[in-house]
This record gives sequence, structure tokens and C-alpha cells, in this order.
Amino acid sequence: MLPDGIEIRKVLESEFDIPFTVSKTIDGREPVFWITPTNPGKELFTLKISFQNRVRLRMEFIPEKYSVSFIQAMGHRSEEAKMRFVAYAKALSAKGAKYSVRANSKDLNIDAPNEWPTEWNSFEARVTKMPVNIDAESSYADIAADWSSLMMGLVLSLADIVPIDPEEDVIQGREEGSLQRVTTNRYERNPLNRQLCLAIHGYACKICGMDFEKTYGEIGHRFIHVHHIVPVSQLGAGYVIDPLNDLIPVCPNCHAMLHRKNPPYSPDEIREVLRVHNYSMYYKNVPSQIKKVAEPETEYGKKEGVVSNNNRR
Ligand SMILES: [Zn+2]
Ligand SMILES: [Zn+2]
Repeated sequence: MLPDGIEIRKVLESEFDIPFTVSKTIDGREPVFWITPTNPGKELFTLKISFQNRVRLRMEFIPEKYSVSFIQAMGHRSEEAKMRFVAYAKALSAKGAKYSVRANSKDLNIDAPNEWPTEWNSFEARVTKMPVNIDAESSYADIAADWSSLMMGLVLSLADIVPIDPEEDVIQGREEGSLQRVTTNRYERNPLNRQLCLAIHGYACKICGMDFEKTYGEIGHRFIHVHHIVPVSQLGAGYVIDPLNDLIPVCPNCHAMLHRKNPPYSPDEIREVLRVHNYSMYYKNVPSQIKKVAEPETEYGKKEGVVSNNNRR
């Protein structure tokens, strides 16, 4: 098992694509995690994650030395950025957390972002969740990783430090010597949209139900693609993405099938294809396939610890 801070850092870095620095202190008997987007010498803010009596989680935005211009810029964000901030706040509530977000020492009304001031000279954010389930020492880091990624998303949605990849094809695999491509778009790869979609929908494929952690164990933890249901080319300029209705988690197989035509198939169309054609066939064939594959794998597994070097070719 990885040390606590590394676990949290890995989760955040895979979700946001920017580097983080995580440290841990102890308050009483419980850990406190300090999470900062890495920006050596010019730290912008820290999220403090603490626990009380093994049941209460508390997260707090702490401004750092270089936060003044960062907070000023938060007040001037686009409509889309504000809607994403609102979506994060709502996702926190939906998961049973209480939050308070304030600018210039006044509450920000989540239902009326157009009434927010634009000149911000202070920003405060606090989130509490009770109860949280601490049943082992390792639970602290797991819970901190899950919840800090939502809180980090809330703050970063009003920041300008999350990269958005330029539009490009993602090479998905080879088939008969030719490249098979899945065309993802910048909405699907925007880490904040992606993460919001997953906070709302979870990590199982919305088409076939595939859950990578259930199927592959730990290496499948938090693995899934995100698909934009309505093609971006059909959206008007200034369209504000709605991570609840516009994006869905899909496994790479279903994702590839969605993109077999352009514009893509709808999720319902692929569900129907699975239902009438492939699904029952798949399950009929599974037992024999598993037998064939499982035997050599078991052998391999037995030998692995002893002669692991022989397996590298
Ligand atoms: Zn699927
Ligand atoms: Zn897609």
C-alpha cells in the first residue's frame, strides 16, 4: 500500500492533469491532509482536509501567499465556468455534504450566479460531511482522496489552471492492420467536465454496465471513458455543458461502438444493439471462453513470484 499522501496525489493528478503537493500532519490521533496545486514559490491555495472523532470530514480552502490575483480572477470567470462551479456545489449536496462558499465575506447564492459580484477580494469555501465511514487507518486517505477531488474541482472550476487539450483523435487500437479511432472531443477530455460527470454518474458503463474495478480489481479503480452524447459540432456557440445530461461514462468498447458512425449513435441505440444481438450471445459463450483463458493464467500466476524474470521477453 502506498503512503497516504501519494495515494491522494495520484488520484488528483490523474483526474486534473496538473501536479499536486500533498502533506500529512497529525491532529490529536487523526490525520490532516494539506493539498496544494504545485506551483513552487508561488502557491495559490491549499485544501485542508481534516477529521473529527472518525465520523466527521471537514475541508477548507486556505489562501496562500499568491492567492490575491488568483481570487480576483475567480470573480471574472465565464458563464460556463460559473455553471461548472454550481454543478460541483450541487454534486457535493447530492452526496450528502454541507458547503459554504463566500466571496467578499458574503455567501454566494448557488441558484443565482448572475448576481455574484465580479470584483472578489476574498474567497472562502468550507465543506463538511457527516458521517464518513472510517473503518481502518487506510480509510482516511481513501476518503480524503474522494472528497478532496470534488472540493478541488469546485475551486479549480473558477481557476484558469486546468488544461484543455486541443481537439484531436485518440488512437484506440488496431484492427486488421488499420488504425481504429475513437474521436473524442474537448468536452469529453476536459478534466473538470469528466470528473463532474463521474461524480454524478459513477464509474460503471451506462450502456453495458461494465465496472472496471469489479472486473479487474484495483487496476480498474476509477477507470472509464466519458462520452459527449450530443456531438459538439451540433452545439451552438456559447453552449454551456451540463455534465448530468450531456456526458455519460462508457467503457471503451461501448465508446468505440458509439463512434462507429458520425454523428455518433445514441446510447439507447447501442443498448438496443446489445440487447437484441450481442448480449445474450456473449453470455452463452462466456463459460467456455473463461475456461480456455483461465488455465494458462493460473499457471502463470503460480510461477510469477518464483521466476518472474522469465516472464519478461
Ligand atoms: Zn460498455
Ligand atoms: Zn465519445
